[in-house]
Amino acid sequence: MSPGHSESPAPSPAAVSDAGSLSSDRLTHLASRVECGSDASLDVFAPATSERVGSVPACTDDDIESAVERARMAGAAWAERSVSERAAVLDRAAELLLDRRSALLDLLQLETGKSRRTAVEELFEVPLACEYAARKGPDAIAEDRRSAAVPGLSTATVTYEPVGVVGVISPWNYPLTLSVADAIPALLAGNAVVLKPDEKTPYTALALAELLEDAGLPENVLTVGTGEGPTVGPALIDRVDYVAFTGSTETGRKVAERAGRNLIDCSLELGGNNPLVVLGDADIDETARGAVQACFSNAGQLCLAAERIYVVETAYDAFVDAFVRETERLTLGSGYDYDDDLGSLIDADQLDRVRSHVDDARERGATVETGGRHRPDVGPYCYEPTVLTGVDPDATVACEETFGPVVSVTPVPDADAAVAAANDSPYGLNASVWTADRDRGARVAREIDCGTVSVNDGFLTGWGARDAPMGGFGDSGLGRRNGPEGVRRFTESRTVGVSRVGPFTFPDRVPTAWFVRGAFAATVAGRHASKAVRRVRDGTIGRLTRRVFGQE
Ligand code: NAD
Repeated sequence: MSPGHSESPAPSPAAVSDAGSLSSDRLTHLASRVECGSDASLDVFAPATSERVGSVPACTDDDIESAVERARMAGAAWAERSVSERAAVLDRAAELLLDRRSALLDLLQLETGKSRRTAVEELFEVPLACEYAARKGPDAIAEDRRSAAVPGLSTATVTYEPVGVVGVISPWNYPLTLSVADAIPALLAGNAVVLKPDEKTPYTALALAELLEDAGLPENVLTVGTGEGPTVGPALIDRVDYVAFTGSTETGRKVAERAGRNLIDCSLELGGNNPLVVLGDADIDETARGAVQACFSNAGQLCLAAERIYVVETAYDAFVDAFVRETERLTLGSGYDYDDDLGSLIDADQLDRVRSHVDDARERGATVETGGRHRPDVGPYCYEPTVLTGVDPDATVACEETFGPVVSVTPVPDADAAVAAANDSPYGLNASVWTADRDRGARVAREIDCGTVSVNDGFLTGWGARDAPMGGFGDSGLGRRNGPEGVRRFTESRTVGVSRVGPFTFPDRVPTAWFVRGAFAATVAGRHASKAVRRVRDGTIGRLTRRVFGQE
């Protein structure tokens, strides 16, 4: 079958410059924000055309050392501000971003080659992240009274202090979203941030830093260190107090090792090989439309994108037909309008990876139901959205992350087999379950070993639930972003215990043996009392009370 992908021509960098917001002066101005002691630089290319659009400084270890020092000094005053003052700055940043959205969208498209639609989805993340930080962040780090060691005779209060300087290392696929998702909560918690964007997408990070400063963030509270990952990454990890990394599992292991040696905490948002499960009762047309979004958003260069689809066999044929039909409606191109669904892959390496995964599957007997072709006529790294069936379970595409517009569809006998297949992976980032019975979907979702599992949606219900944690099981990472835990990870907790009766020592005036006997008796009585309370709480009286007060 031959897909009906459009062939809208990619804009050339010259045409981009003519657009005004992306003049080469503008890119040079952004690059000049990086403080770098040498002339070494890295070229930046537009994936849509493969042409060079500019260059940014290649920071050295010394440059990162001084960036962290500046951040530490600026961060001290930032931490002194009240959390509501910090939140107000982030709120202003969200407003400014909405004002400057066209220029930012152009920039995002220029350096990622993604379609305008995907760029818009990415842009929306910023006001949402700022809004969440401003609304819920202060509660996440507010002083917290906990159960005391000796109830009535002592108190326990927890305060959350900023860790100091947070290093944020971000990838190229969502350079705005995945910088903001860590930088915003880190700033709200009172930290300074040194952001290391991917070599391929430095300008978006620089524009974000400029925007935050224009919104009132003091100079150097967020700085950007551009340069090679293996130089800037380790230099940063050796100096910061926390590292928030998003990228591949391979690099994540190196980051974790280095953070471990430095005894600093880290969060690692890594790769995935995400399953999508279609149960026998699913609405086929709706599921096929949803699966297209789940698999091919950002040309599949999305950590949450589905790459393995398991369909209960009674629905298999109908699903494959509908899914292929929907896939063939997708259009390819990186135009600066809203006409295209899928943009370009990021570079030649990514294109080679996608091609080699598809070739390997083909050689092992897979059928290419649609797609499977490089489209240099649309853009140098464009590749058609590709649906494979009959994929050998040992094929690379089945076992590893492709990170491109390629998905395999496999029939399974029933829901249990679908769950077993979904869980047969070292990764555990994101999954989805599709069914007409939402309650059953939620039950199946709970059996899938992934950090987020959506029912009747590919990833937005999980990722978009900003108040809920997001992260990975197994090789997909460590720690969680989003939600209160996504803010608290950037703090050190301090528990202050206060005794109301002086030190808790063995008393002088009572023989120790008597005291110990009394203490054991009190412990036994306390345990009985607590069990009785739990029985009442979990029993009929407790259930009725909760129902009356609407808690159940
Ligand atoms: P990558 O690991 O190659 O690069 C990510 C970042 O790490 C870049 O900024 C890079 O410069 C830097 N880096 C490279 N070497 C380093 C080192 N030795 N020490 C410290 N930093 C170093 O990742 P990539 O291939 O560019 O990105 C794609 C991967 O990211 C995919 O596997 C994808 O699934 C994953 N990802 C995960 C999430 C998530 O939230 N879980 C989100 C987006 C992407």
